[in-house]
Amino acid sequence: MEYLSSLNPPQREAVERTQGPLMIIAGAGSGKTRVLTYRIAHLIQAKGVDPFHILSLTFTNKAANEMKQRIEKLIGLEARNTWMGTFHSVFAKILRVEAHKLGYPSNFTIYDTDDSKSLIRSIVKELKLDDKVYKPNTVLSRISGAKNRLISWEQYVNDPYILADDEAAMKPKMGQIYKTYQSRLFRSSAMDFDDLLFNTNILFRDHPDALNKYQQRFKYVMVDEFQDTNLSQYLITKKIAAVHQNICVVGDDAQSIYAFRGANIQNILNFEKDYPDLFVVKLEQNYRSTKNIVNTANSIIEKNKSQLKKNVWTHNESGDLIELMKASSDNEEGRMVATTIFEQKNNKQLHNSDFAILYRTNSQSRAMEEALRKLNITYRIVGGLSFYQRKEIKDLMAYLRYVVNEEDEEAFKRIINYPKRGIGNNTVEKVMVAAYEHDIPLWEVINNSSSFLSGRAANSVEDFCTMIRSFKIETERKDAFEAASSIAKQSGLLRELYEDKTIEGLNRYENVQELLNAIKEYVDNPENEDKSLGAFLQEIALLTDEDQNKDTNDAVTLMTIHSSKGLEFRHVFVVGMEEDLFPSQMMMQSREDLEEERRLFYVACTRAMEKLYLSYALTRYRYGRLLNCEPSRFLEEIDPSYIKVNKRTGSNVSSSFRESLSEGNNGFIGLKKKPALRSSTTAKVHTPSPDFKPSNTNNLQKGMKIEHPKFGFGKVTGIETEGTNKKAHIHFDNFGEKTLLLSFAKLRIL
Ligand code: ATP
Ligand code: MG
Repeated sequence: MEYLSSLNPPQREAVERTQGPLMIIAGAGSGKTRVLTYRIAHLIQAKGVDPFHILSLTFTNKAANEMKQRIEKLIGLEARNTWMGTFHSVFAKILRVEAHKLGYPSNFTIYDTDDSKSLIRSIVKELKLDDKVYKPNTVLSRISGAKNRLISWEQYVNDPYILADDEAAMKPKMGQIYKTYQSRLFRSSAMDFDDLLFNTNILFRDHPDALNKYQQRFKYVMVDEFQDTNLSQYLITKKIAAVHQNICVVGDDAQSIYAFRGANIQNILNFEKDYPDLFVVKLEQNYRSTKNIVNTANSIIEKNKSQLKKNVWTHNESGDLIELMKASSDNEEGRMVATTIFEQKNNKQLHNSDFAILYRTNSQSRAMEEALRKLNITYRIVGGLSFYQRKEIKDLMAYLRYVVNEEDEEAFKRIINYPKRGIGNNTVEKVMVAAYEHDIPLWEVINNSSSFLSGRAANSVEDFCTMIRSFKIETERKDAFEAASSIAKQSGLLRELYEDKTIEGLNRYENVQELLNAIKEYVDNPENEDKSLGAFLQEIALLTDEDQNKDTNDAVTLMTIHSSKGLEFRHVFVVGMEEDLFPSQMMMQSREDLEEERRLFYVACTRAMEKLYLSYALTRYRYGRLLNCEPSRFLEEIDPSYIKVNKRTGSNVSSSFRESLSEGNNGFIGLKKKPALRSSTTAKVHTPSPDFKPSNTNNLQKGMKIEHPKFGFGKVTGIETEGTNKKAHIHFDNFGEKTLLLSFAKLRIL
């Protein structure tokens, strides 16, 4: 078989060992996905297995499609007949056939998240519960968590521990909602996303005939990104593979990044117990990245305590050093990234699609998008909407637009009943009809609502007008930022988002804050003479135009690190490398959380084939205030011999950097920073002296005694200069020998 020659020995072994349980545990870029692809091709072509007997499960639809295409290249159209897709898509297909066994018709509907939330909203209302306490997002994520652990509503309402948990969270009626939610779904012949897996488990548990049928059908089962499967998914694969035991799972414990959604790294460890005659293949050669990138990634992940030991290496060339970019602000960070892409494209004949910008949180896309647009670089946001297309941003923008222009009909429709103020669709229709039929300006119509509305509706519209009027007055007197902040608060929009404590809710809140930050930056920029809200809206209108990104395949990819799993790009920028942003402030409570953040950083760096850039900003607007940021601890963890500081960040920046550090601001206000948790070392993290201030280290000499804010006291044992980089070798009393890059190590010379 010709294709086998393009595999290395362990890869080949994994491809050829088609019988019995097999686990491939390997580092990033070592060809796991490639092995799966070849294995399927091999089964069909060399072993004569009918493609209908092969089931492969991937994490995203995109991954499934890519894999299908690759197999097609290897063996032709026959590849189309394998069962390949995400857990959800494959089992939805199976449930359609088996639905009647569970009492569902085969044409059952699948509710998406919006449908589910809307159903929950109405149930909360019916049960006369407080919708401020039982927010749709919160309720749904609680129900989803239960389903992923295979807890039915019956078990849920009868479990005293769960009840105690809900009572502690002041949400004792959660079980009642779960129960009603399920019965309502059933009555509507609908399943939500989690039901697709939950019901598959029920089907296989209660209907041995059905289980048997699929066990016979799927003689070969394969799972990519196995480290991110949850219990429900794990049990399904285990049951299906129980007869033939030809199950092959592929994963990397170092890339497990979905614990918050119930994924369980334990699945990898359990696998060995569940299959005593398991054969394990380790792939250690990385084909994706340069030596510098592979070594950098290794130096990051070795700081995690809980990991399976792997030795990832590559034959690829050393390549460029990792470039560290320091920006004075988040907007400058965007400009630096965009300019670098622009230059690299021209100098090296690269395409837009060779570049990816990865960030920890969605809201960071704003600064990047604006900078790319200004340079006319086409980009695409994967797995999300572009910043100004997000619902919460459109909502606030609609308020701002409406305050500036009270005839803006689209804005009006968006905000008249959001947040809810008891103005129904009927009322809105009446308003629109009155405006159209008599050709009266919208604002005039609603200011005279009592003439065609009555009772509550009229009062609500009147209140709305009063509110808008007060916003208008404020907007005339205040600058754009003050006005917008006040509108965000007084309208109730910010509160609505703030109260939603789910991950999505926090994301939306962050996004709105990010819009306010952008307005603040606009106001603070001396180049902008007109600081009014109207002027800001005009400026931004040019940037929000979607036309700029017409359909094209040649686009820079922007996405969160979470959605970058499994992908590769020639040049990768990981932006926002700052404490409290990455690692995220919410993920510093425990070692487990911090280690998950570190795995996420590992995933980010290992997407790069040729060149990796890490950037951070010294200041960032957060909650409308300009705050100083500290470089991420992850930067310090990288072995400095792989890093080069980008020259673009001249000395003018580094002086403000030092100033910013000496202010000791940790980048957030009103939120207390948790003590740094360092899993890599057993020594206790040092508490800086009360008078700790970083010194100017230009004249640092061998033999000098210093204090580092985290590693404590030590003595310089050597200084090394390499291009623009200066490194110090320091022997710390409690942490031993370390090499630090002076441009971002904070040292106090004693
Ligand atoms: P991740 O952990 O990021 O999902 P992976 O282990 O699945 O990575 P692949 O995406 O399969 O890795 O492979 C990484 C890159 O290396 C791909 O471009 C792939 O084509 C290439 N590659 C893998 N094995 C070989 C090989 N033996 N010869 C040449 N190229 C290879
Ligand atoms: Mg892969």
